[in-house]
Amino acid sequence: MADPAITRLFEAPRVVRVVVLHRRAETFRWMGLVEVTVITVLLLLFLPLLAAGLLVAPLAAAVYIGLGAAKVVAVIAGIAGVFGSLEIPHRALQRDAFRKFHRELEVRVYDSARDVVGTWRTRVTHEEVGRRVLAQVLREARDRRLVLVELVDAPLSCAEVWYGGRPLLCEPGLPATSTTRPSVEADGTVVTLSASGVEVARPLRSTGRVLAALLLLLMPVIAPALWVLRRPVRPALRRLWCDLRGVRRTLVFRASEGAVEVAEEANTPIETRRVEADELLGITWSEALTWGRGCRRVPASLRIIGQEHTIELPADRVGPRGRSVRNLLLAGAIHGDAAASGETHCPYCGTRHVMVAGQGCPSCGGWPEVLAS
Ligand SMILES: [Zn+2]
Repeated sequence: MADPAITRLFEAPRVVRVVVLHRRAETFRWMGLVEVTVITVLLLLFLPLLAAGLLVAPLAAAVYIGLGAAKVVAVIAGIAGVFGSLEIPHRALQRDAFRKFHRELEVRVYDSARDVVGTWRTRVTHEEVGRRVLAQVLREARDRRLVLVELVDAPLSCAEVWYGGRPLLCEPGLPATSTTRPSVEADGTVVTLSASGVEVARPLRSTGRVLAALLLLLMPVIAPALWVLRRPVRPALRRLWCDLRGVRRTLVFRASEGAVEVAEEANTPIETRRVEADELLGITWSEALTWGRGCRRVPASLRIIGQEHTIELPADRVGPRGRSVRNLLLAGAIHGDAAASGETHCPYCGTRHVMVAGQGCPSCGGWPEVLAS
């Protein structure tokens, strides 16, 4: 379901650029007050006992065994050190006791005078809602041929620049597959180029036979937990069964005719996910925030963004050459697309032209690449 408020935002006059900000917002945590009060009361109650134990007893012992004045001072300094170390947990508590984090999505549209002409913001409570909003914003930018800059908070930086009007919103000057292929193949990944597209097959690390056997035995306990976490149980079972028998598993990416498929395979398919051509909006390898309550920033992951659903794979699944894998998949999905040189509005002055890497706008001379820095 498209949100009409987002569509209206794009209908503002003279929009030349869109910014989507994934913000890590914080609110006051009232439970922190209760926790700190309880800890303070407990400390006040037990402080006399602590003082007796840590200060009086060693001092009495020191005097009893007849230590000199210098040694008594050393003992007191040691005790002060013990009290000082209590400061560490105290500070840790202080830092996050009164704050809790959540994710906010903000969409801003700019005119050629670099003024904000519209803003829309929402607190993201569910991952599905957040992904749907981002997909709608990308779709609007694609259809209206606008450049969209995706920013990620904590600390604030550019995650991706999407170029509306271009195939799969990709940047001008996508590296050729011939230059990207060797770097991807360096870690045992096999890249196959065919007339219809690209296939990237990456061997997956085995759990190990012993651990796989142990986990299979524990499955009656693990399965409910997987179910609660909305992780599919059957593929997890098949994965462990393969590892127990020593059958090698491979992660295969297939991109052709506008669609992208991610399949985990052994002798038979284990799990297959696919974003169809009429649904696919774009592919990115970029950093993001988690959707959960902590809303932490996580290292780059591969996101294959569709209008209805997104496939997201973390770095340990994709390998160290994630950006190159993304470029190969884009090249495979765009393959033979007649609209490969679509026009885009300049993000500075709005002039519509075919963007070429390393060349400024024919009207204002602006360089879109600057937006990514
Ligand atoms: Zn321009």
